[in-house]
Amino acid sequence: MQRPAFLDLRRLEGRIVALFLGLLLLVQLGSVVLVNRSVQANAEASIDADLKTAGHRLERLLFQRVLRQHDIAVLLAADDGFRSAVGLMHQEAGTETLRDALANHAERVGAALVAFEDLEHRLVAGAGVQPGRFVGLAADLPEGAPAEGDSRLVLVDEKPYQLVRVPVRAPGPLGAVLMGFALDEDVLADLKGLTNVDALLLVRGGGPWRKPLSLEADKAPMLMEQAAQAEMGQNQARRLNLPDGDERRGRLFDLRVRGAASGVQLSALLTASVSEAIGPYNSLRWTLLALTLAGVVAFAIGSVVTARRISGPIGALARSAERLGRGDYDCPVQAPRNLGEVSELAQAFETMRQGIKAREADVHRLAFWDPLTDLPNRAQFVERLRTWLREHPQERMAVLMLDLDRFKHVNDVLGHAVGDQLLQRVAERLQAQAGSRNLLARLGGDEFALLFEGAAASQALGLAREMAQGFERPLSIGEQTIDVSAGIGIALFPDHARDADALLGHAELAMYAAKRGQHGVLLYDPAMDEGSQQSLGLLTELRRAVEQEELRLFLQPKLDLHTREVHSAEALVRWQHPTRGLVPPGLFIPFAEQTGFVRQLTAWVLRASARFAVEAEALGCPLRISVNLSTRDLLDAELPDKIRTMLQQEGARPEQLCLEITESAIMDDPARALATTEQLHAMGFRLAIDDFGTGYSSLAYLKNLPVQELKIDQSFVMAMEREADDRKIVRSTIDLAHNLGLAVVAEGIETATALALLAHWGCDEAQGYHLAKPMPAGQLPGWWQAWRAPEFRDSALGPLTTT
Ligand code: C2E
Ligand code: MG
Ligand code: MG
Repeated sequence: MQRPAFLDLRRLEGRIVALFLGLLLLVQLGSVVLVNRSVQANAEASIDADLKTAGHRLERLLFQRVLRQHDIAVLLAADDGFRSAVGLMHQEAGTETLRDALANHAERVGAALVAFEDLEHRLVAGAGVQPGRFVGLAADLPEGAPAEGDSRLVLVDEKPYQLVRVPVRAPGPLGAVLMGFALDEDVLADLKGLTNVDALLLVRGGGPWRKPLSLEADKAPMLMEQAAQAEMGQNQARRLNLPDGDERRGRLFDLRVRGAASGVQLSALLTASVSEAIGPYNSLRWTLLALTLAGVVAFAIGSVVTARRISGPIGALARSAERLGRGDYDCPVQAPRNLGEVSELAQAFETMRQGIKAREADVHRLAFWDPLTDLPNRAQFVERLRTWLREHPQERMAVLMLDLDRFKHVNDVLGHAVGDQLLQRVAERLQAQAGSRNLLARLGGDEFALLFEGAAASQALGLAREMAQGFERPLSIGEQTIDVSAGIGIALFPDHARDADALLGHAELAMYAAKRGQHGVLLYDPAMDEGSQQSLGLLTELRRAVEQEELRLFLQPKLDLHTREVHSAEALVRWQHPTRGLVPPGLFIPFAEQTGFVRQLTAWVLRASARFAVEAEALGCPLRISVNLSTRDLLDAELPDKIRTMLQQEGARPEQLCLEITESAIMDDPARALATTEQLHAMGFRLAIDDFGTGYSSLAYLKNLPVQELKIDQSFVMAMEREADDRKIVRSTIDLAHNLGLAVVAEGIETATALALLAHWGCDEAQGYHLAKPMPAGQLPGWWQAWRAPEFRDSALGPLTTT
């Protein structure tokens, strides 16, 4: 069984109760001790006072007694019968008569002796104890009534008597009558009645104390013994302990006696019982004890109640803290009223709980909700998709994934604020189409997903198409009207996959396929997966290609049409595949661009080109190498730093390299492309626009770009001899470039005619199979040494020169 908390000293409640009760008991104990002491002191003081006065009281009692005895004797002396008996004393048998009268009298008044003496103090007749002795003792007695304080005590055989003498006249003096009264316990009883003091009369001197006269005959020997041992004098009260536990205070009081042998003294041992003196206080003590007990009980109850009032709320707080620790923030912390700091603490707990709860809600919101659109985020979508699959394994369902087209463009051109609003509007629109039953989430960026419960392929396709068609209505944001389109991919449960990750993956794949093919909506097809599996394999292979040195640097020389010399060449990468042989860049560069791996490729080509330029220059063949940069490279903010480090490592100079950028790379993100090209230009690199004419680059952009060279796309150059339009394009491009201060390179020159035509129009450089095909870098210096420029025959051009 569990102990109640207030009995457990390890608990606050138990300690408070123990402290309260302990303090109370201490105080009560102190007061009991004090009261006891003062009771004791009071009792002792009153005993002392009683003992001091008791001696005189005793004397007074004895004196009153002797006065009465004297009166008795006076009556006897005046009695006619007695006087006639005295008158007969000289006759024969007169003494006998007198003695009878005396004996009668003694018996009547209770005297120990009655005697008659003549005028010469000779005993005439007497009755009772030793009349002769008394007559002798009476000789000293003063005439008349006892004087104040003289109680006429005499000791006969160490026994105390009171002795009175009264003259007898008839009418002339005849003698005196003597009366002796033995001292008895009555006088002691009177004293006890008056003063509460016990008196014991004893004889001391000339041996042990003796002849006790006492009301308590049984205790007398013991009292005498103790008193004798205590050596008490007249004025000192001493403690006497009787064996029955009766504690007394005692004091000796000597009485004046006549007839005592020298050194022998009649004394009164006056004693008073301490316990009797304390007696009246005992009820006070009991009351005090009862009060103490009542106080203890009241305090115990009070302190248990108080302790509960304090420890109860603290216990409740501890339980609240435990709940908070477990992450349960819903139960409010009850603040007890009027409990000072405990109430404040509870209040603080409650504030803390509310704060944590609010933050918890925030954290939960941030973790599972998209703050921009107020839609569930990817984490929540995946979680709920998993739960749904667990709970409805027999039902059908579709996951739709949607990605906006050209959203990045909107962001770049119209700003992020508009981009954000666009996403919000799209979210609203999609939510309206999806209905409240189906879970719509924003997975991130411009990507949304929908969990379409119970949907078969036809229903999923229907909803997806409805969504796609919805985008035909442009969205207006503020003043802007924005055309939005999207690719939507669909994966079905259980047809396409049975778990959440696979469903999402398939829907995503379908979505990318839809975007690539501009299909709008596409249902997942396992064939898509194969494509992506292949891509994955290719990526692994490409990585290996870089690591295992399977890439080859090919160079294609560029002829300076003014000097007819070769000062530069273009770097074109090839992949020496272990099984497929030499793979042209067209088969892996686009894929590398998609996956971002092209950055590693570019780094490789740049390093190989720089190394070649340095080596060729050392061989007396100074060539500037043009390297192709991809879109991804241009968007890489760290590209300039990477190139700088590489140049330092290879010991090459910037002017030994030319960087070719395609129009499309610039148009993807013109602002960033401009920033990067400016940095590269500032570093001293020559920059060229590659494949000019295939993209949609506006002249406005071109004008701002820090490029020095423009490469006319080979499609125009190769068609030039057949198509007058292409001739016009090439010729006007050359003029335009020159007007902008740019050098012009023509690529794809496959014939002598093309070469001559371009030279005729003032083109600056030429590149093409007619001059040289791309060759392994190692072969170029040899080729360069041996190569002689062909003749340009203007005459053969004929009508071609006139566009
Ligand atoms: P590009 O930069 O326009 O390179 C010129 C392409 O035209 C090269 O094809 C070259 O072999 C080819 N060519 C040159 N003269 C003639 C000609 O007279 N007739 C014909 N029919 N073709 C000619 P290649 O080497 O297959 O490269 C194709 C494209 O791959 C390049 O076009 C370039 O965009 C890309 N590329 C090649 N190497 C790299 C590289 O290292 N990095 C990057 N990012 N792209 C590269
Ligand atoms: Mg190029
Ligand atoms: Mg080109």
